[in-house]
Amino acid sequence: MRHIQALEALNTRIEACTRCQLHEWRTNVVVGEGNPRADLVLVGEGPGQNEDETGRPFVGRAGKLLNACLKEAGTSRKRVYILNAVKCRPPSNRKPEPKELAACRPYLTKQISIIAPSVIVTLGATATSALLHLGWPISSLRGSAIEWKGKLVVPTWHPAYVLRTPHEREKLVEDLRYAVQLLAR
Ligand code: SF4
Repeated sequence: MRHIQALEALNTRIEACTRCQLHEWRTNVVVGEGNPRADLVLVGEGPGQNEDETGRPFVGRAGKLLNACLKEAGTSRKRVYILNAVKCRPPSNRKPEPKELAACRPYLTKQISIIAPSVIVTLGATATSALLHLGWPISSLRGSAIEWKGKLVVPTWHPAYVLRTPHEREKLVEDLRYAVQLLAR
């Protein structure tokens, strides 16, 4: 119970944040959502238009695809917690700048430390490098489990990329399935 209150208190603080310039363009701060006791946390890049409008992560077409892939991988959206590397929408859906990622990173790491999952899936190169500070392409990292602060991080494709390149869908499912299997170890 205590940790749910700690997460809520942190998320309330994030909602008032003006630490980087992205706060100027946002409609809503997308702090994240899901099971606060999740063993599996997913980290995306940042809110898009639908997410900015609703204040919820992954609610557009990419979100629907992610939900379907989670199901195929043997889990569900209700069982995981979904976060983003930046909580406010970059204008025109541009990539978050390094200084914006750096400003928001302490929130991401604190949220992860409170939720305390054993496995984290990073969706796309931006989320992966925001968390791990690795500049390697996602194609060389995906499918592996990287140790980070006593947890295992499984990098994979961002669902928005899979929407543009549908033949990569099975690899996203495969990586999510691998992450689910790691939970059982
Ligand atoms: Fe604050 Fe993060 Fe939003 Fe920047 S993106 S204003 S650091 S919550």
